[in-house]
Amino acid sequence: MSELSPLSPHALADRILAGENDAADLPTLTRLFAGEVDTWELMAAADRIRRSHFADEVHLCSIVNAKQGGCPEDCGFCSQSKHFSTHVSAERFLAPEEVVEASAKAQAQHASALGLVTATRGLEDDSVALDKMVDGVRAVRDAGHTEAHGSFGFVSRDGLARLKDAGLTELNHNLETGRGYFDSVVSSHSYDERIQTIKNAKELGLRTCSGGIVGMGEAPVHRAELAVALRDLDVDEVPINFLVSIEGTKLEKIEPMTPLEMLHAIACFRLALPRQNIFIAAGRMHLGQLTPLMFAAGASGMMVGDFLTTANRSVEDDLRMLEQLGLRGRSCGAERPEMSRPAAPPVVRSTDSGRPKLRVLN
Ligand code: SF4
Repeated sequence: MSELSPLSPHALADRILAGENDAADLPTLTRLFAGEVDTWELMAAADRIRRSHFADEVHLCSIVNAKQGGCPEDCGFCSQSKHFSTHVSAERFLAPEEVVEASAKAQAQHASALGLVTATRGLEDDSVALDKMVDGVRAVRDAGHTEAHGSFGFVSRDGLARLKDAGLTELNHNLETGRGYFDSVVSSHSYDERIQTIKNAKELGLRTCSGGIVGMGEAPVHRAELAVALRDLDVDEVPINFLVSIEGTKLEKIEPMTPLEMLHAIACFRLALPRQNIFIAAGRMHLGQLTPLMFAAGASGMMVGDFLTTANRSVEDDLRMLEQLGLRGRSCGAERPEMSRPAAPPVVRSTDSGRPKLRVLN
């Protein structure tokens, strides 16, 4: 086997910033995710891309559990699956006034969107569940506190059209992991069904939000597969979650990633997805004292407020952190950066030692 050429994250960033959006191909990303390069060097390269495209802007969003628990699907990480015995109980759908209350709270937390999330396989056409979510989306839209986003599982084109008419601007449907690992985590539906739902939303002109969960026992190649699949789908927002092992679920025994491993993964996703809004969601508590470094690793947003069934840092701490970092909010609907933007600051390479030293000029 021929020897692999050394990887240079900054050389990769140079190519990406020159317009080569997919410069980080699957083999390269697999090596990056596997830790072949120094995490700090990788983060510095990822941060050049983030700053070039997003400057000092970050996107904040929030979610509410509009139908908690009792889901018939068997996603191995999920506390809301009825296949697992967890602390989460099955509840009714929230009423329109309850989701409006949640959107007012999200606005107070500086979130520009509220995602209505249902623990359902999907919303079938002509179902009461679809009617309820159409009403919920309309209520959020009419209240005007935030944009109305949603994550409902599988929804047909007709169902999505009804939701869009009611005011839905963006659909979330995560791929969760790479295709090669998906069947190890989920058996009740297929990867292709998930991809088709995202395509349906795009065809209808909805913005799309799709990401996954890192740290479920997947290999580096699976993380790379996820990143490339999201790039191929050209989704708008990419939520990166880190596994929070919930007692009773299939993945309950998996240890959390370390903060540095999490930052390394975030930076890899930034190199894979230069223009997408990458926001950090569930599991970010595990970043601990390194939380502010998620932006230096390439994240361009974060979820604020509580997650569906797990806690988050306090909103006050998050907002104070952004203020101290000099970052400001960016709305979800803001245009995605074009690759024709001016290139990022040049990189100076010193070759006076064996290993190139890289320095970014400001
Ligand atoms: S479809 Fe969603 S709510 Fe249902 S088990 Fe899977 S992740 Fe949980």
